[in-house]
Formats: sequence, C-alpha cells, structure tokens
Amino acid sequence: MFSRDIGIDLGTANVLIHVKGKGIVLDEPSVVAMDRTTGRVLEVGEEARRMVGRTPGNIEAIRPLKNGVIADFDVTEAMLKHFINKINVRGFLSKPRMLICCPTNITKVEQKAIKEAAEKSGGKRVYLEEEPKVAAIGAGMEIFQPSGNMVLDIGGGTTDVAVLSMGNIVTAESIKMAGDKFDIEILQYIKKKYKLLIGERTAEDIKVNIGTVFQGSRKEEMDIRGRDMVSGLPRTITVYSDEIERALRESIALITQGARAVLERTPPELSADIIDRGVILTGGGALIDGIDQLLAEELKVPVFISDEPMHCVARGTGIMLENIDKVDRKKIV
Ligand code: ADP
Ligand code: MG
Repeated sequence: MFSRDIGIDLGTANVLIHVKGKGIVLDEPSVVAMDRTTGRVLEVGEEARRMVGRTPGNIEAIRPLKNGVIADFDVTEAMLKHFINKINVRGFLSKPRMLICCPTNITKVEQKAIKEAAEKSGGKRVYLEEEPKVAAIGAGMEIFQPSGNMVLDIGGGTTDVAVLSMGNIVTAESIKMAGDKFDIEILQYIKKKYKLLIGERTAEDIKVNIGTVFQGSRKEEMDIRGRDMVSGLPRTITVYSDEIERALRESIALITQGARAVLERTPPELSADIIDRGVILTGGGALIDGIDQLLAEELKVPVFISDEPMHCVARGTGIMLENIDKVDRKKIV
C-alpha cells in the first residue's frame, strides 16, 4: 500500500520535513521557547525564533542544537515531536518510514534517543543517516557511481565536507565553523570597532544583506541600530560590505583549510573526478556572497552552489528513502 515516506532534516539552524509526493511541507527554525520556572514549552519554530533576544526574564528561547551538537537533548526531543505532530503523521493511512538527518557529531546514545522519539511520534521504521551524504544526493550528485563527488555543507553550527564514492563517505571532516559563527564574528567586530552592542538577529541581517567573503565582490552598505556601550543609549551606524569581508576572513579560512585537508586525504583517482565535476556547496551558509569564488580560488577546483542549498538535505531524504536498499545498512542505526 502507498505510504508516505517522511524525511527530516534536523539541522542546528532549521528543521525541514519532506513528505513523499508532497515535497517540503515544513521549514522552521530550530528554536524552542520555554518557561524557565515551570519548564513548559511555550512556542516552537518560527514563533519561538521571534522571541530570541527579546524575552522577559522567565522565558527563554533555546536553540537546542547549537554549535552542531545537541546542547539540550530533552528540548531537541520535544521540538522533533512537535514538528512531526504538526504534519499530522497520525492522520496518514499507514505508519510512514522516516529518515532523519542529524548533525554528524551526535553520540550513539543521542542517535538512539532521537530514533525512539521519532518512533513514538508515529514512525514505523526510523533510519538515521549522515548529513553530507544526503546533502550530496539532494544536490543531484550521482553518489552511488564509482566516481568521486565532493560536497561542502555549510550549516548553522558546522561545515561538513565529504568526498563520496559508491554511496559511501571516503574522506570527511566536520568543522566547527559555519553560518552562526559568522554572525558572532560580525557582532564582535561591531562591538570592538564601533563600541556598539547588537543582537545576533541584527548580525545575521548584516551578513545576509551586505556581507561577503570575497574581497570586492559586493559593495553595499546598511544602517544598523544597537546600544552604545558608553552612553547606554540606542545609536545608528552605517556598515559596509568591505569591512564585513575583513571581519569574516579568519573564520572563512578555517573552512577552506578543512576543505583542503579533505582533498589532501582523497585518493588520486577520486581527486581527478573532483577536478572534472567540481565541488558542490549546500546548506544556508552557501548563500553568503562570494563563497563559491573564494573556494574555487583557494582549492583550485570548480565550485558550484546547488539549487536552493537550504533544501538539499530535505530533498535528499526523499531520494534516499526511495533507494534505501542501496544504502549500507551497517551504517544505519
Ligand atoms: P543547519 O543545517 O545547521 O540547520 P542551514 O543549512 O539551515 O543550517 O543554514 C543556516 C545558516 O545559513 C544560518 O547561519 C543562516 O544565517 C545562513 N544563511 C541563510 N541564508 C543566508 C544568506 N542569504 N546569506 C548568508 N547566510 C545565510
Ligand atoms: Mg544542515
């Protein structure tokens, strides 16, 4: 009987759910708002995100998967259940199979607990899979062929670099530098240079609207507001693309170094394939201006940004579930 397979991209910044035959049905930030005193969950996802940095003392907006690890497991579990319930799995004709992509660094115990949480929320068989593999599939790479494919997934908490061949990861690295750290770098730069305190949301706006990582590729400016560290009062300043490029230079270098290390450990035949096919960028961090140019220059290989990079993992879960027999079951918990 027709059952709707469900794929879940449990990201550090965003959770996406893909349903077979329907596409992406849920796309929300990985944020949970809780009442500190009672421990009760107040809001999850978009509603909770609006509260980040704006909550009164007793309410806390938590990002349970901060920095690419599960910082708060109970909250992660509550969030996962909330999202699965939101798409009304119980209303499906039959229990669906589920494939969940989690950050690469989570422990075996955490993997098991995530699986159980998904089963309790209505999953018939729940599989966990490594994120870079699914990202590569979602980006349209032919990873089941005997040829080298390189993917760089720049998320919120981590950047995962992997070379894949015949459906498996050959060399890989998880770097603790990604989109959210860029925001922190920008925030700290503004604080130091202008003695102005801004929030993470403002820092992210700067990154998205005027930020670049390739010198001279973008020349824009933006007025931003924050709190003056000396007077304690609100103040407006103008920031420019050039200075954001400088502020992000060291962080971006960590990503290029990690990617280079993976290339250096890649067998020569596969390296040759990568020169032909190029590196594919996925994840929200792939949207920062100039990253393809910078990486192409540093790695000396062609670099492409996938279509809708933030949807790759979710799309990949759909394709993977259809090919689950091809997947190395040993790797699946
Ligand atoms: P995760 O897989 O960890 O949940 P995502 O792939 O959803 O992460 O990417 C989230 C990151 O992408 C965030 O740090 C966000 O600020 C960043 N991002 C999203 N859109 C853009 C953009 N247009 N320019 C730069 N960064 C972006
Ligand atoms: Mg991701």
